[in-house]
Amino acid sequence: MSAPRVIRTIAEMRKVVADFRMSPKAEGKEPGVSGSVGFVPTMGYLHEGHASLLRRARQENGLVVLSVFVNPLQFGPGEDFERYPRDEKRDLEVAAACGVDIAFLPSADEMYPNPPLARVTVGEITGKLCGKSRPGHFDGVATVVTKLFNIVRPDRAYFGLKDAQQVAVVTQMVRDLNLPVEIVPCPTVREADGLALSSRNVYLGSREREQATILYRTLQRAGEWIAEGADAAELRGRMRRSIAESPIADTDYAEVVTWPDLADPPEGRPLRELDAPLLVALAVRFGKTRLIDNVIINPKEVTATCSGK
Ligand code: AMP
Repeated sequence: MSAPRVIRTIAEMRKVVADFRMSPKAEGKEPGVSGSVGFVPTMGYLHEGHASLLRRARQENGLVVLSVFVNPLQFGPGEDFERYPRDEKRDLEVAAACGVDIAFLPSADEMYPNPPLARVTVGEITGKLCGKSRPGHFDGVATVVTKLFNIVRPDRAYFGLKDAQQVAVVTQMVRDLNLPVEIVPCPTVREADGLALSSRNVYLGSREREQATILYRTLQRAGEWIAEGADAAELRGRMRRSIAESPIADTDYAEVVTWPDLADPPEGRPLRELDAPLLVALAVRFGKTRLIDNVIINPKEVTATCSGK
């Protein structure tokens, strides 16, 4: 596949998408695909998880835009903004292999010539899970995603369920603000041993990498505990104890909420009796590295699987 066109300015990015929309390709026989713009926003250091989003965007759109921007607004003080891994050359190779047309790689000055006075805040659902541990994080995400949507003006934007709360926040924002874009949630891509792919996995030392499988193992057990009749408090406690089996793992949170509204399930009631899908989510520190993972469980299906055994 040919290398993507690299764009670093907002003005050029806007022009290329506007030209595409005027082009004969955009007026092709299948307007749903050939005329549409698919967008995959990332912070770079691309891996197979990002690639799965890019390939899906390639299948469904006539123009595929990747952005790579490590957004300072979504990092808190003392977080890993400075040391976040960056490798533009490799990112462009992955993008080329996935058939990306445009790689939008703006600088921080291009995106934020002045500290922004206008920001996007999404209520309630940003106050729990990662939003609780990382105050201001989702306002930073919502603000940069809105800016990127206004610059790229995509028809569809692809987000990974690895960051399920981010999917919930962006979907809510698009709905509340009537942004003309369809949010496409995509499944989490994992290593063979279950570890969810993440750019931050490069921070892990070999012992940490070995023990990081405790996240997904705990999430799998969570499905069994729900099937056995655990309520929310019991599930949280069991997940914490499961993570503690790794002596170097430090639980940030082990939570269960309803999906996609992220509401607290009723306490004291077996989760398997609920109608809503459940988001079971973990954040665990290994030294300085914070990993997150989750599964979305349909309580009815869990119960059916269990009783079928
Ligand atoms: P990031 O570069 O970490 O901001 O991620 C960019 C996009 O890729 C987000 O929508 C993430 O949810 C998605 N993503 C990251 N890791 C994975 C993964 N393991 N599987 C699927 N999507 C992912």
